[in-house]
Amino acid sequence: MPGDKERLVFATGNAHKMVEIRAILGDRYDVVSMKEAGIVADIVEDGDSFEANALIKAREVSRIAGCMAMADDSGLEVDYLGGMPGIYSARFLGEDTSYDIKNRVIIDMLDKAKPSERTARFVCAIACAWPDGRAEVVRGTFEGEIAKEPAGPNGFGYDPIFLVPGLGRTSAEIAPEEKNAISHRGNALRLMRERLQAIGEK
Ligand code: IMP
Repeated sequence: MPGDKERLVFATGNAHKMVEIRAILGDRYDVVSMKEAGIVADIVEDGDSFEANALIKAREVSRIAGCMAMADDSGLEVDYLGGMPGIYSARFLGEDTSYDIKNRVIIDMLDKAKPSERTARFVCAIACAWPDGRAEVVRGTFEGEIAKEPAGPNGFGYDPIFLVPGLGRTSAEIAPEEKNAISHRGNALRLMRERLQAIGEK
């Protein structure tokens, strides 16, 4: 019953993320989105790392909500591009540029890369903050390679060009549940669940 559990506001407006978050933390917390909590906040993510941005968001939402809050920050790091687009993943080539174009540009930028140089990873930092100032942050990763061509209808963003080693398919070609079981966000959420248990939060 939601009433028995501690309320946790997750700083996202993304319904897909809420499904994944509830699946991993919902048995322990009454997870609500910012919208469900009636919180409207325009938070400036000006940190220099995934962790810093996740902490900025979690702290601000916890302050406004007056309860425990969590936030994530994620992106794609391409080794051949020195880790770009990284924390600029959503803003890469402009916020309004389609992922068809962003993905094509990344494939073209790796035109001269050797097969061993196509490594990449999705990164997700999840921060948890409390109104008394305490905070915890964890990082989950999902290792892969940049495909030679986009493929697959599932997922979003850079999924069509992210080849999952061992599967020989992109993360847009695997089912959502299969992706959640191995993804950066799934891994970070599971780590946060363990961390909260270890510090005696639940
Ligand atoms: P955010 O942390 O939700 O703001 O995500 C930042 C950006 O990283 C997204 O807009 C995508 O470009 C990229 N990204 C993060 N996670 C994924 C993923 O699982 N698949 C594809 N792209 C992702």
